[in-house]
Order: sequence, then structure tokens, then C-alpha cells
Amino acid sequence: MTDVRVDILTLFPDSMQTIMGESILGRGAKKGAIEINCHQIRDYTENKQMQVDDYPYGGGWGCVMMAQPLKSCLDDVMQQAGQRRSRVIYMSPQGRRFNQEEAKRLVRDYDHLVLVCGHYEGIDERFIEECVDEELSIGDFVLTGGELAAMVVTDAVCRMVPGVLSDEACYTGESHWDGLLEYPQYTRPDVWEGRAVPEVLRSGDHAKVDRWRRKKQLERTMDKRPDMFKELQITDKLDLELLAEIRRERSSMKLTEPVTYRKAEMSDLPAIMDQAVKAKARLKKQKITLGTNPSEAMFKQDIEDGNCYILCYGSAFAGMFSVVGPGVDFCDTTLTDGRWHGDGAYVVLRRMAVEARYSCTGMASMLMNFVEEIAKQRGAAAVRVPVHKKNVPMKKLLAKFNYHYRGNVNLTQSTDALDQRQAFEKVFP
Ligand code: SAH
Repeated sequence: MTDVRVDILTLFPDSMQTIMGESILGRGAKKGAIEINCHQIRDYTENKQMQVDDYPYGGGWGCVMMAQPLKSCLDDVMQQAGQRRSRVIYMSPQGRRFNQEEAKRLVRDYDHLVLVCGHYEGIDERFIEECVDEELSIGDFVLTGGELAAMVVTDAVCRMVPGVLSDEACYTGESHWDGLLEYPQYTRPDVWEGRAVPEVLRSGDHAKVDRWRRKKQLERTMDKRPDMFKELQITDKLDLELLAEIRRERSSMKLTEPVTYRKAEMSDLPAIMDQAVKAKARLKKQKITLGTNPSEAMFKQDIEDGNCYILCYGSAFAGMFSVVGPGVDFCDTTLTDGRWHGDGAYVVLRRMAVEARYSCTGMASMLMNFVEEIAKQRGAAAVRVPVHKKNVPMKKLLAKFNYHYRGNVNLTQSTDALDQRQAFEKVFP
């Protein structure tokens, strides 16, 4: 007898069986740790047309699956499974939300899961009342059928059955196991696209590696899933120490002065150029080459036209940005493919840079807000932004502010062959 048996009641058993016979679950089944069977509900119909569904009583859209074929199929499955700790689960958007804790509960408490997949508008309520032990949902959205949901549950449960993965450590360290997300992972080569694997991971010092990974887990959960982080009860000495360390590192960058902006003057040019040179060097490390751009002449022009702005932290220089338009056209905004969506006046955010020491402080987000403010003051209905295609941090920032990718910038008029830019746009509602 296998450790865990899963029976799935569905109208599409063949395709499901194929998918779940592959890879890790497939090997788990060959080793005899798990058994996954998909059953065709239609085989259990008692009418000549092999009909499994019918119109809903009371009227309404779509069809409802009949109780009888489901019940006959279930009875057969229960008999085949024999004496087991069984649980009949209906996959349903109305069910309790499935997550890692639920998956752990299922492997702990049962060795036989029967997953019922609805289709069309759902299944006859009386089958649920009569036969179903619980309902599970994989999220707050509606699928066309329960098949994908049943596969999600089967996969999450079966991978925890002993013998399916090579070692328990394969899943106990992973995201969600103990309320934390996993640390970042790397594999060969050492350096890829100018990005090196963190030094500590290559040090061979296991204690250091463990400490680094634990810190990353705490940091990531804090940043990516503040909701999960709030639920954590941290009492472990090392965890508390790591948290204090993280907070110390971060508080040194907390902004205490007001962040403002003003129009740039010629006397700002040295600070702007100094920053541009440093920013260019940083980007080069990430294999983002800007060629001859941006040149001093371009900044000068922007300042003369009143389009260059300085970002100020208190009275300190914290960055710059240039906003051009509306009504000024240049090569940055013609596309080789795709199209702009806004058809009204627009400004172009041509350049922006925040001093490195203010990274991760929210300064860049404030800058983005200033750009929108300026755009609106100038009567623009949209902002267009050309971005180097490898500038991932900038693209992430744009995504956060609901800018959308519109195509590739046509740079045939550009003097710079290395310039490979993509176009993003935000149209104001
Ligand atoms: N009329 C139903 C939805 C039917 S969707 C209602 O509003 O509640 C059709 C089938 O897809 C369901 O019977 C169920 O088995 C499956 N399904 C849809 N969304 C699901 C979800 N979020 N989780 C699990 N199963 C889902």
C-alpha cells in the first residue's frame, strides 16, 4: 500500500493523469510512495446519453453537474481504496483558502484524498451536503473547472510525502514552511551578466552561510510579505539578533529631512555631472552601457530650457531629473513597434538619477511623484519614459507607478549605437 493515495474525480482524467505522471510526482509514484488516480465521472452516468450535467432549477446561466454520477464514482473509488483515513474534498471557490499549513494538515491527518472537480456552474448542492467533508479554494478567483485546483493541492501535498523528494530538508527550508519566505538561490556561473554570486555563499563557511540565509529570509519576508511578517512570533535568539542588525542597517538610511525639488541652475551642473559619471559606472557594472550619453551639453540644454530639476534632501543634492514637453518632439518617443496609448499632450521623463546613498529610502518614488506633479502642472495627460532595456531597477520602479510597456524606441536618429531603449507610458485617468 502506498503512503498516500489521491483520487481525482474529473471530466478530464487523461490530460491530468499525464501531467501528474511527469517529473517528481511521477517518480514518487514509481517508487511506490504515492498513488494518483484520475477518474472519469462520465463513466458512471446511468443515462443513455452519458449526460453529466443539466440546467439549474430556478433558471440561470450554464449547467450544473448532477449528483448521481459523482456519487457512483465516489462509491467506486472508496471501495477501491479500502481501509484508509479518507477525506473527500470539493475544489471550490467558496472553500477555505488552501495554503502550506493546509497542505501540512492534509498529509498529517489523512492518507487518502478524494478531490472532486466541478465544471460549468458547479455541482448539485445535495452531493456536497451528502458526501463532501470539506471544500478547498486555491484563491479568490473563479476557474472554469476544479482540475487546476486539484493539481495544485495534489502537488503541494504529495511533495511532502516521505520518499517523494530526496530529503525532508528539500521542503522544510522553503518558503512558507515556518512562516518565512526562502532566501535567494544561485547556481553556476559565478558571474552572470555582470552580477556576482554573494561572496559569503562561495566562502565554504557553513555557519556564515546559514546566518546569511536566515537574515535574508527575515528581510525578504519583511519586504515582500509584510502581512506574513506581522504574524511571526520571533523569540529565537539568533533571529532577534538578525532583526536588530537589519533594523540598524536600515535606520541609518531613514529619511529625516524633507525631500523637495526645484528647477536646476547652471551652478548645479558640476553636481549633476559628477552624479552622471558615477551612475554610468554603476550601470556599466551591470553591463548597461550608455555610450556617450548623457553628455554635459544635454544637461546644459535641459537647464537652459527649464526642464532640468534637482531633487533635494534638506538642502543637500540628492538627485536630478529632466522633464521635457509637452509639444517637444525628439527621437526618444518614436517606436519601432507597439504604439503609445495616450493621444493628448504628454511630457517625457528623459533622465533621472538618485544619489546612491539614498537607494532604498523611497527617494526614487518621491521623484516619480514629482514628475507626475510637474506633468499635470504643464497640462500633460501622460508621461512617456524611454528606458535602457537592461535597466531592471528603473523598470521595476515604473511598474510600481503603473507605467506600461509600449514598444521599442526607434533610435535610428540616435548618435549612440549602444542605446537600446524601451518605451513606457502612463496615461492619467
Ligand atoms: N458557480 C460557482 C463557480 C463554479 S466554477 C460559484 O460561483 O461558486 C466551476 C468549478 O471550478 C467549480 O465547481 C470548482 O470545482 C472549480 N473552481 C473554480 N474556482 C476555484 C477555486 N478558486 N478554487 C478551487 N476550485 C475552483
